[in-house]
Amino acid sequence: MAKKRFGYGSFYCWNCGDAIEKGTSNCPNCHALYEGDKRYGNIPLMQAGGIGWSNQTNHPRFKEYASKNKKYSIVFLIIISILIPFIILIGNDVSFDAEMIVVIPIVLLIVWLFGIIFMHFQYGRKKPEWDGIVENKFSENKKRYDKSNNRTVYYTEYTVVYQRQDGKQIKHTSQNSNEYDTFQIGEHVHYHGGKYCKGLEKYDKSHDRVLNCIACGYGNDARNNYCERCGCPILKGQPVTK
Ligand SMILES: [Zn+2]
Ligand SMILES: [Zn+2]
Repeated sequence: MAKKRFGYGSFYCWNCGDAIEKGTSNCPNCHALYEGDKRYGNIPLMQAGGIGWSNQTNHPRFKEYASKNKKYSIVFLIIISILIPFIILIGNDVSFDAEMIVVIPIVLLIVWLFGIIFMHFQYGRKKPEWDGIVENKFSENKKRYDKSNNRTVYYTEYTVVYQRQDGKQIKHTSQNSNEYDTFQIGEHVHYHGGKYCKGLEKYDKSHDRVLNCIACGYGNDARNNYCERCGCPILKGQPVTK
């Protein structure tokens, strides 16, 4: 694999998942073109996602991506740990009194505690797997009052309701329409709760032009085998045979 890069971007080959240096047009590993309209040759877009559950959820790339994210989270925690004392002091009109000496470590402790708990659940722990169908989905226009700016904020909330096979109902609500756009009512879904690969997969991906990466959420062309942004495998089914 080529040199690892810091940050996100179109740095991974859509075909083999190898990291790509900027300024070349062919993947050094598999020689696939990775730019321009012709890169997919005559692979048709429709049905490229296939039908059935993916067999890639244990791919080592998910672990690599998770440990990379863990590192970023720790760097982030360190940066805010440096910034927090300044923010508290400025908010307190720069008086470093006895109270601040107590408050600053407590705030830092809470921030680190939340950070470590988040990382533990996100990147190192299995979650229960489940199967189900999309029972319902709806969007609602909502508004809330923003006190600090003294104005009303309008937004849309997207909800997808899943009926699990074990009888439980699950509701996912978000202001982001990704999940709402991806899943259609009646569709079969599986929740992957692997240590490093967590998220929903739908059984039939053959009608999708765009497949969201389960690791980073980036919307990839359905012909991609690997996510262009993070290099993780795109969960796809078996090719559709006519
Ligand atoms: Zn390649
Ligand atoms: Zn990705």
